[in-house]
Amino acid sequence: MLAILHPNTALDSEEYRQTMHYLENLPNVSVRVHEVQGATQRLTEIYLLGDTKPLNKEEIEALPAVERAIRISDDYRILGRHRDDRRQSGFNYNGVEFNQSNLNIFAGLCAVDVPEHVDMMMQALEDNGEVCTRMGAYKPRTNPYSFQGHGKGCLPWVFEKAGKHGIKVIAMEITHESHIEEIDTCLEKLGRPTGVMLQVGTRNTQNFELLKAIGRQSTYPVLLKRGFGITLNESLNAAEYLASEGNANVIFCLRGMKTEAGQPHRNMVDFAHVPAVKRLTRMPVCVDPSHSVGSREQSPDGILDVMHATAQGVIAGANMVLVDFHPKPEKALVDGPQALLMHELPAYLEDIRLCHDTWKKRQAIYQRLKDDTAE
Ligand code: PEP
Ligand code: MN
Repeated sequence: MLAILHPNTALDSEEYRQTMHYLENLPNVSVRVHEVQGATQRLTEIYLLGDTKPLNKEEIEALPAVERAIRISDDYRILGRHRDDRRQSGFNYNGVEFNQSNLNIFAGLCAVDVPEHVDMMMQALEDNGEVCTRMGAYKPRTNPYSFQGHGKGCLPWVFEKAGKHGIKVIAMEITHESHIEEIDTCLEKLGRPTGVMLQVGTRNTQNFELLKAIGRQSTYPVLLKRGFGITLNESLNAAEYLASEGNANVIFCLRGMKTEAGQPHRNMVDFAHVPAVKRLTRMPVCVDPSHSVGSREQSPDGILDVMHATAQGVIAGANMVLVDFHPKPEKALVDGPQALLMHELPAYLEDIRLCHDTWKKRQAIYQRLKDDTAE
């Protein structure tokens, strides 16, 4: 059971004290308080865990600080979409809005290499009015002898350049909890010229200790990649680990599944799951067409497979696109062969906007059908 308190209920108010006293004394029920800071108000959600079947919804709703109560299922308690659940989805980070209706594009380098390339990438984004990017400093590599990323050494100049080009959010994978501190210390020292979305890679989707550590902080939102060899349910539970520790600002990223059946693509493109994740949870959903497709192959219609896959995700309602670009792919230290090129950026953005608009029109078609049927 979830009890949602009246907005802005003060934690030292009499209403709150009385409500908590009642809830904390329920037999065999434990109480977990979760704070949600929205754009205009602060919401307190109280999760009642344990033997909640005998609880009476009306009785909980009659408590002085409670606005309404929701019976929640066991799966994805915080991030899930439950029956009668009208809670808002999404969050604002560093001035950028993330929710299940809008769309943000994170085009950028798979891995930070040299200042010149980072600058060229960010300049192109600025020229096209984009304020988000992707840039890896810590790279999890299959081969221990491959380039592992520049690590914390590159953070100061990457963040400074981001600030200079008006980049507000960088999706940056971390592979160890100590990286949170490294990023935070560096941003703080520079006066926070930009923001970071902590990315959990597909190899770490079920690294529960890393998830818990990231979940314990709420300064940075999280981009959780779907595990490439586990079920969707298992990956959604991994996202719930973050929320259960306190950070519900999570975006779920589809990035393809590892199976030979996906060939000739690097992974089996799984973007038909975009609406499924939006139905099961309140998380904004990201698609990563670069790591799904893994090449610059092109179909006879003159459109690259990466672009087709992007369109499939966006037309199905994706809320974020994470995509590899590089000004000189032959010089890229990681994933050059799948990178899109700088001159392709404007057309790609136009294609994405077209697909996002089409998704909205598709929604309108089915809304009309629903309205007509109801008449
Ligand atoms: C990446 O986005 O650079 C990456 C390594 O992705 P994944 O974890 O999906 O392989
Ligand atoms: Mn990559």
